[in-house]
Amino acid sequence: MTVEPISFDLLRVGHCTHPECVAMRGGRFKSIEFPALVGLLRHPALGYVLYDTGYSRHFWEATRTFPECLYRMITPPALPPEEELIHQLEQRNIRPDQIGSIIISHFHADHVAGLRDFPQARFIATRDEFREMRGKGRVARLRGAFLTKLLPDDFESRVSWAEDQPVVDPGLAGFGEAHDLAGDASLLGIPLPGHARSQLGLLFRSGETRKFLIGDACWQVEALERRKLPSRVTKLLFADNRRYAETFFRLADLHRSDPSVTIIPSHCATTWKRHGNSRQVVHA
Ligand SMILES: [Zn+2]
Repeated sequence: MTVEPISFDLLRVGHCTHPECVAMRGGRFKSIEFPALVGLLRHPALGYVLYDTGYSRHFWEATRTFPECLYRMITPPALPPEEELIHQLEQRNIRPDQIGSIIISHFHADHVAGLRDFPQARFIATRDEFREMRGKGRVARLRGAFLTKLLPDDFESRVSWAEDQPVVDPGLAGFGEAHDLAGDASLLGIPLPGHARSQLGLLFRSGETRKFLIGDACWQVEALERRKLPSRVTKLLFADNRRYAETFFRLADLHRSDPSVTIIPSHCATTWKRHGNSRQVVHA
């Protein structure tokens, strides 16, 4: 592990709305907000690194035509101007061209909608998930929540595949293998399959604790605490339900056995309340 600290800030970049019982069996029918959370790291060697991008104006452009417009009709999102990622970075004195790397959890539109705003960034993603998206026709891609218009035209020349990075032991109960994304074991990509065919979590030490950003491997920390899987309706959305449940319960076991690891799902309102910070400034 690197001796220099990694600073971490959790940003909220828009949200969508669903009944709570969709995200967690036994939850309320009441509609609740699911924020789109983005990790902003300052790494001693790599500089500024993002984990996903949340929503952006590109999402609305990419869903203007049929059939893509069905996406925003089914899961209507909102992005207040003050939550736009570019704006929040500006508030922290960070220009878009200072974002050196973007680690992509998976290619669902609410995680990659802002990629076009960072022309200098290198991307890290899983080849497996990219191939899954590319292999589908237009309608099947939409069913899978993929909007390929969101990817920069030169995406493939700027991406490194997580699978090609050295495999190391992350020292994390229940998770035996990680990809060493920075070459010094400071940023570890953890495979979290199920929600998407291949999903990349991110584990790193920041201050006294380790942070584990888990994308959509679970939607709410309450679900992990109560060991409640999402509604059966979501089986239609997930790439592999058996693997989703395996990943979910490994995370639930980790959450219970090692409170020193902070698990951060991408859409958890409770996590946002506990760890989010829309005002803190990460100085350049
Ligand atoms: Zn997703």
